[in-house]
Amino acid sequence: MKKRFYITTPIYYPSAKLHIGHAYCTVLTDIFARYKRLRGFECYFLTGSDEHGQKIQKNAEEAGVTPQEFVDDIVKGFHELWDLLYISNNDFIRTTEERHVKVVQDVFTKLYENGDIYLSKYKGWYCVPCEAFWTDTQVGPDHICPDCGRTVQVAEEETYFFRTSKYIDRLLKLYEDNSKFITPESRKNEMINTFIKPGLEDLCVSRTSFSWGVPIKENPKHVVYVWLDALINYISALGYGTKNDELFKKFWEDPECEVIHILGADITRFHAIYWPMFLMSLGIRCPDREFIHGLLMMKDSKMSKSKGNVVDPYPLVERYGVDALRYYLAREVSFGKDGNFSPEQFVERINVDLANALGNLLNRTVSMVNKYYEGVIPPYEGAINDVDSEIENLTKLTISQYEKLMDDLKITEAIVAVNDLVNRANKYIDETEPWNLVKDVEKKAHLASVMVHLTHSIYVAGMLLKPVLVTASDKLFDQLGITGDLLNYESVYKYGRTAGLHVTKKDQLFPRLDYETEVENIQTMMNNK
Ligand SMILES: [Zn+2]
Repeated sequence: MKKRFYITTPIYYPSAKLHIGHAYCTVLTDIFARYKRLRGFECYFLTGSDEHGQKIQKNAEEAGVTPQEFVDDIVKGFHELWDLLYISNNDFIRTTEERHVKVVQDVFTKLYENGDIYLSKYKGWYCVPCEAFWTDTQVGPDHICPDCGRTVQVAEEETYFFRTSKYIDRLLKLYEDNSKFITPESRKNEMINTFIKPGLEDLCVSRTSFSWGVPIKENPKHVVYVWLDALINYISALGYGTKNDELFKKFWEDPECEVIHILGADITRFHAIYWPMFLMSLGIRCPDREFIHGLLMMKDSKMSKSKGNVVDPYPLVERYGVDALRYYLAREVSFGKDGNFSPEQFVERINVDLANALGNLLNRTVSMVNKYYEGVIPPYEGAINDVDSEIENLTKLTISQYEKLMDDLKITEAIVAVNDLVNRANKYIDETEPWNLVKDVEKKAHLASVMVHLTHSIYVAGMLLKPVLVTASDKLFDQLGITGDLLNYESVYKYGRTAGLHVTKKDQLFPRLDYETEVENIQTMMNNK
């Protein structure tokens, strides 16, 4: 397996404040980055902001500030939100930064010089909010934008085009050779059937109708089309085409580095069709994988500011903690599918999985070790009966399942596997009844075995959930007395290593939430928008 890893979120558009939908994508990407680091990978994690385009220019004019001032202000909020959510990105790229602008201009020149970009005139159906031209087939008889559903207008401009036609065969071959290039599979079929098969026209890669963009050096009345501009962030942040390109060599050019883009379904077309073509034209390799996640919706409607039902991550984190929100996002909606946010599910999930299952397991176990062994976990003597063997085997199986699922970006399923172990461990307490074992001198060895098996299960659960529970896992380790090499992931394979540790009873990891009160509380947060 490759030991180096490059993972990216999309760069977000600073036209408004970020909401929980953006937090969703970034938190999930962060979980992968943390997982890879935990497994000893050298990992580079990039996020950023996509700051050019007509919409920004218009919004800035309305706000009475320059576009740069407008985006500076909003992007400050991006950083604050990522800090709040413990996002461990290595870099944050802004498309208005000089290091990016220069690379975009150079890329444009390269594509122009190798003949893949040419100047011509374009007349077609244009969607202003999407900044995209569409064909007759795509807009249909009612002239509706296939992306946003708004009415499109006829527009004409002198523009540069990218020779899409030249790369269609190579693109289809890429899809065929690398079955995981676009996942889930349904998204790939959508690309082929909706966009490629009906006939892909050459792509307009410049605009003259506004100026807030990267000017084309050869013809400065044109700015580079926002999507060409934006996609290049994935390599400009690594120093592609500059003297300072060690990161690019390490995390992109090197075939031993696994490159993964995480993105939402609404921007698949640009990532799955045009981005590989641009890279082919530049003569550099394509990413290994593009993982398309679903949309997080408010019950039945897509989360959007206009509908007044946006969930703000700030009050959620303030009241329930960063771990609760991260856990909910990763666990509730199967990664890759669409899902809903609801106050009821949120409170329920925290109570069931975190307070009742994990928190309670830790609490009960630490109390028993304190009571029966004066706080020191007894020695490990192997599995002394069938119940012990069962939990021991399940713990080992959970680790291998978890790794397999995580390596395949199946994060929700991986968490479910850990949760099953936690539930099994709680049941193991009820089955073995340590409070009765302690009364019988002949059952001393059995009681000791129960304690060491329990603590090892909790230790493993804490380690496997560490990429998700960024503060609670450490608190869990603290209560179990985990230090030194036990903090390394590899120690989960060494069964019985918790023997001899000193446990300490501390506050509940996740206090149980009062269902009615907290559901009402979250509803109020949502209505305050
Ligand atoms: Zn549109």
